[in-house]
Amino acid sequence: MNETKGKLIVISGFSGVGKGTVIRRLMEKYDGFAFSVSGTTRYRREGETDGVEYFFMTKEEFEAGIAAGRFLEYARYSDNYYGTPADYVFGKLEQGIHIILDIEVQGALQVRDKCPEALMIFLIPPDAQTLVNRLTGRGSETEEQITMRLTQAVREADTAPEYKAIIVNDDLERTVEEIYSLVQNPEGMKKFYDANAGKISGIKQDLMEILRTREA
Ligand code: 5GP
Repeated sequence: MNETKGKLIVISGFSGVGKGTVIRRLMEKYDGFAFSVSGTTRYRREGETDGVEYFFMTKEEFEAGIAAGRFLEYARYSDNYYGTPADYVFGKLEQGIHIILDIEVQGALQVRDKCPEALMIFLIPPDAQTLVNRLTGRGSETEEQITMRLTQAVREADTAPEYKAIIVNDDLERTVEEIYSLVQNPEGMKKFYDANAGKISGIKQDLMEILRTREA
């Protein structure tokens, strides 16, 4: 990637791991970052504003965007479409602004294929119960939706090796500092991968156990 351009930062992680909060804090603390607002067909949660968290679209609008090649990547997740607007992302990178994508795994892999220099970061919770508590605590999903997202998390756990760094989100400020340090010094990615990759299988096992109990 040309040094005068911004860096493309892909942040993935289980639903409820706190990606949104981490990204907001990073942008509050440091200049030179922009968030890529995705298009989605999911319902608007209370407190969300069109054009801020997402561009809320109908299925027809989204499919027209796919046909017109407007998305850098897109995916179906929990029965909805989500996609990243290509023009916005490339425009910001050209201006030297670091752009942050909060996207799930299928989309992240499409970005990695198109932009191999992307900083691929996977956020994990300190443990499975913390994730469940966060998902239930935000009160925006039904029990069925929570089960769906936990099931998805179990599947996503296996894709963590596709990322260059794995970061444990147990302290907001520390997580933000770690991500910022990787933007300054992408060579540090491997250190964060090696330190945390081993934690994923335990979290996955615990999530499976929690799902068994929920389904019983
Ligand atoms: P939520 O419905 O909780 O806001 O997001 C659900 C999942 O969709 C999250 O894992 C989030 O990272 C992902 N997501 C949000 N925007 C996009 C996007 O533009 N593309 C893809 N592939 N995933 C996205």
